[in-house]
Amino acid sequence: MSNRRPFVGGNWKMNLDAKGAGALAEALIGAIRDDRVEVAVFPPFPYLHLVGQWLRESRSPIRLGAQDVYHEPNGAFTGEVSCAMLQDLGVAVVLTGHSERRHVLREADDLVNRKTRAALDAGLEVVLCIGETLEQRQAGQTDSINIAQLYYGLAGVPPEQMARVTIAYEPVWAIGTGKTATPGDAQDAHAAIRGALHRMYGPDIAQVVRIQYGGSVKPSNAAELFGQDDVDGGLIGGASLKAEDFAAIVKAAR
Ligand code: PEP
Repeated sequence: MSNRRPFVGGNWKMNLDAKGAGALAEALIGAIRDDRVEVAVFPPFPYLHLVGQWLRESRSPIRLGAQDVYHEPNGAFTGEVSCAMLQDLGVAVVLTGHSERRHVLREADDLVNRKTRAALDAGLEVVLCIGETLEQRQAGQTDSINIAQLYYGLAGVPPEQMARVTIAYEPVWAIGTGKTATPGDAQDAHAAIRGALHRMYGPDIAQVVRIQYGGSVKPSNAAELFGQDDVDGGLIGGASLKAEDFAAIVKAAR
């Protein structure tokens, strides 16, 4: 057993309306009270203010996260949102490199790296998402893809910022599909990622960086996945939209 504190994130993606986001936040605040597991929610941008207010006023241990960020501080970047704007709303942590941004919105490694570095430089925490497609897995490239995305994503990130970095291993074929990596496959991928962190940053940093698993995690499979030595919690999509399921997944991470 490691002494890394498990971290479970709820990625609400482009779901809910204001009423639904408020109701979900309220239910999560009631259901998740202890802080043995670090918990963050990632609402859509328009609901960050509302959810942040609920979390703050109820003194919830749940932290506020954003699904994306732009690396420039300000200027003519229509539609984009800066680190400082997110911090104004109480955002503590951002996702970078989510597979939907890489594959649907064609975000390349270079942009993922710029966003990661800008967020860290601004004092935010980052969950850097990496993971292979089904084709890449079938071609035996799981570890090489993960490690390449890790190297590109973290290029230029100094060791002293690594305490604010979490890696989310999310096999693309498992996201939102109902298919999950077996606990053994997840552990193998996580161990390879930790090995790469060791080569990049040395043993001490490799031991403290948390690696979440993401991809169709639900209450019924969470405990077994989180029970693997190198799996330090999860990034949850679909199941994070139901307070009861998300709370059960958080409980499984204890
Ligand atoms: C995700 O969006 O990061 C994710 C893992 O989604 P799901 O849990 O729905 O597979």
